[in-house]
Amino acid sequence: PLVLGIETSCDETGIGIVRGRTLLSNTIASSMDEHARYGGVVPEVAARAHLEALEPAIRAALAESGVALTDVDAVAVTSGPGLAGALMVGVGAAKALAVSLEKPLYAVNHLVGHIAADILSSDEHGDQAPPLEYPTVALLVSGGHTSLLLVRDLTSDVELLGETMDDAAGEAFDKVARLLGLPYPGGPEIDRAAASGDPNAIAFPRGLSRASDMAGHRYDFSFSGLKTAVARWTEQRQAAGEPVPVADVAASFREAVVDVLVTKALAACRDYGVPRLLLGGGVIANRRLRDVAIERAAAEGVTVRVPPLSLCTDNGAMIAALASELIMAGRPASTLEFGADSTLPVTEIQVAESA
Ligand code: ATP
Ligand code: MG
Ligand code: FE
Repeated sequence: PLVLGIETSCDETGIGIVRGRTLLSNTIASSMDEHARYGGVVPEVAARAHLEALEPAIRAALAESGVALTDVDAVAVTSGPGLAGALMVGVGAAKALAVSLEKPLYAVNHLVGHIAADILSSDEHGDQAPPLEYPTVALLVSGGHTSLLLVRDLTSDVELLGETMDDAAGEAFDKVARLLGLPYPGGPEIDRAAASGDPNAIAFPRGLSRASDMAGHRYDFSFSGLKTAVARWTEQRQAAGEPVPVADVAASFREAVVDVLVTKALAACRDYGVPRLLLGGGVIANRRLRDVAIERAAAEGVTVRVPPLSLCTDNGAMIAALASELIMAGRPASTLEFGADSTLPVTEIQVAESA
């Protein structure tokens, strides 16, 4: 099926067009620059930016793929989780489009979309990646989420194993960058600063990793204690009149985040006997995270799949890909009886499925 996907859950206005499992276009307009001076995404600003960016993004995606709007077989949209006001813009546009085109509408889960992104991957020769094998453990890390999932079937069975109890990993990067005086978004800045630092210079805490914490939280994450530890460490330095070694702090902080993420993901692989790990979300841009995951996974016989970065950050193609899978699995479209659900659980892969 030829599917047009709309994604507006955060600060990216994403329009994607896929045919079956083939990516035809992936157009992204981001309002990130508008949020930079606030040090984080401002919901009201994001919603307004989606409203302005949607129509040109749809036109650009159609032009890039050489597809006419009337050729589209189905429209797909993120109904949650995400920022309510931002989601509403995409949901409204998708309903209008589906009604006017008289085409089915698939309202889907953003997090499951991140997993579906992998289906669109192709190698350097343009050859399609082999299909996703089941079950697979998926680690999704972004500015809004840090989730560990067990995927038995993308269209029908996704289980939440664990998630962050406080800050998302990307959010921790952004907050620590801010307290080190680095600009937003902090992830790339910390990454750059860490390149010349010593990852073992400072022993920052690994949240929820002690045996005593692990009881009910084996696969859960916590990054606010780490952020506080970095703040306290740098404040003590400053109080003593000593310079803050930014590179060492950045490298040690990054190492603590990466260590916890990889350790918990591989624990899930081991516990469930799943030799496959899928990575997704904008924080996957972090080279150190990818390198450590691939290296430690290999030592345990786990293969790692990482979609290209353009499919890891928020985009519409992954939403179209998920809908395409649902259609190929024979699932009925959604009714129009749904809205934006900012806390949609990951187990709800599609919402308002018609009877
Ligand atoms: P959502 O949570 O809905 O997916 P988001 O916009 O917060 O939305 P992404 O766009 O996927 O998430 O990712 C952005 C986050 O990734 C930011 O927090 C940013 O700091 C982080 N990030 C980007 N590059 C890097 C990097 N090299 N290292 C670590 N973090 C990074
Ligand atoms: Mg973003
Ligand atoms: Fe996302």
